[in-house]
Amino acid sequence: MTPIRRKVLSLLLESSGPAKAYDLLQQLNGDGAPKPPTVYRSLDFLLEMGLAHRIETLNAFVACGHWKHGHAAIFLICDSCGSAGELNAGNSVKKLQQEIEGVKFKMTTATIEVRGLCEACA
Ligand SMILES: [Zn+2]
Ligand SMILES: [Zn+2]
Repeated sequence: MTPIRRKVLSLLLESSGPAKAYDLLQQLNGDGAPKPPTVYRSLDFLLEMGLAHRIETLNAFVACGHWKHGHAAIFLICDSCGSAGELNAGNSVKKLQQEIEGVKFKMTTATIEVRGLCEACA
């Protein structure tokens, strides 16, 4: 773990919601001012290590809330306030993985994005 990777991870952990790569770059400005490719590589590294997830529909990143859930993550994304909570859906994820294996597909990662309204906005 290089200092820049650790810094990117701590920014994700401190972020109140999903963070875009651009926002991370802004926050890192002046702090050794890393070049954009360095930040993207750090994000790739964190994704590979399972320390962060990428939410495609928001084009944003979040720190992983769990240490043990395989490689599938389920996010509940609020259309009103933009929050993205990670659901700890251990059993359904396991079931999904079994069904994917059942059709002989070799899964590397899965991010399931559920859109709707969070408790506070509903
Ligand atoms: Zn996770
Ligand atoms: Zn909300």
